[in-house]
Amino acid sequence: MVDNKVIDGKLISSEIREKIKIFGEELKKKSGKTPGLAVVLVGENPASKVYVKNKTEKTKEVGFNSIEHKLEESVSENELLKLVNKLNNDENVQGILVQLPLPKHINSEKVLDSIKPEKDVDGFHAQNVGKLWSGLNSLVPCTPLGCSILVKKLASDLSGKHAVIIGRSNIVGKPMAALLLSMNATVTICHSRTKSLADVCKDADILVAAVGIPEMVKSDWVKKDAIIIDVGINRIERNEKKILVGDVDYQDCFEKCKMITPVPGGVGPMTIACLLLNTLLTSYSQFNQEAPDLTSILE
Ligand code: NAD
Repeated sequence: MVDNKVIDGKLISSEIREKIKIFGEELKKKSGKTPGLAVVLVGENPASKVYVKNKTEKTKEVGFNSIEHKLEESVSENELLKLVNKLNNDENVQGILVQLPLPKHINSEKVLDSIKPEKDVDGFHAQNVGKLWSGLNSLVPCTPLGCSILVKKLASDLSGKHAVIIGRSNIVGKPMAALLLSMNATVTICHSRTKSLADVCKDADILVAAVGIPEMVKSDWVKKDAIIIDVGINRIERNEKKILVGDVDYQDCFEKCKMITPVPGGVGPMTIACLLLNTLLTSYSQFNQEAPDLTSILE
């Protein structure tokens, strides 16, 4: 599962999805209902289209209903809010995901905050964000949740460890910090205005890169035997081929680190598995069923 130095997110996520399917089947039998995940895609962003296609496929694979809504780039904010409201009140929908980024004329925060917190499988609603930072049970954003599952596999208690996160977005950096804090790490969040970034990173036992700059992190930024979680997904051209690389220079850092997530095949597949995990969780409560102990899903 965690083979030598490479943290195999593809394998770990497929095992998680298998277990979600088993729990989902039991829930369907008990409740007589099928969990439904609604995904809303606005416009023609090619990367978003690929993400939505993957999410839809994996949703069906675990036996959940996938409800897709594709809207024109020109859709008004009001129309989108109306659709979210409809999904909020739809008994067949247990989770709602509005794919980001949204076109510039739409206020993303307003849209995300219009999703019912109990159907907010992306964990972006202010109520869920507040709960996460307060250490309360909440729906947690999928990418950092996936990263935290990977880190937990290597070390469940990070007491005395320094975790450095590069990136302070609401989607990845900030919730990642909350999760690492809850695991007792001492957490530093870096961003575009951080001075001496390389020096800060060099002190990290756990280094999480979520920036969006191809191969920015080099080996001289990395402490020996650090655990590196590379969230970045960057499309670049190399040797006349289009390839995906992370925010970490994988080849350069491989020798020095203890463990590293590859790109692709590291954090990416974990994100979708966590989306399905969140949908399973929201389904238990909406079907009035007590959620069993789900820790086995994460072991
Ligand atoms: P974002 O653009 O919202 O945030 C980027 C962050 O990086 C910002 O906080 C910014 O301050 C920081 N930053 C920018 N330049 C910097 C610099 N020179 N030095 C230090 N910090 C700098 O991006 P995001 O949504 O958080 O995504 C980050 C990366 O993760 C992207 O490559 C994105 O594609 C990827 N991502 C992957 C997944 C996944 O499932 N694997 C999910 C979400 C995002």
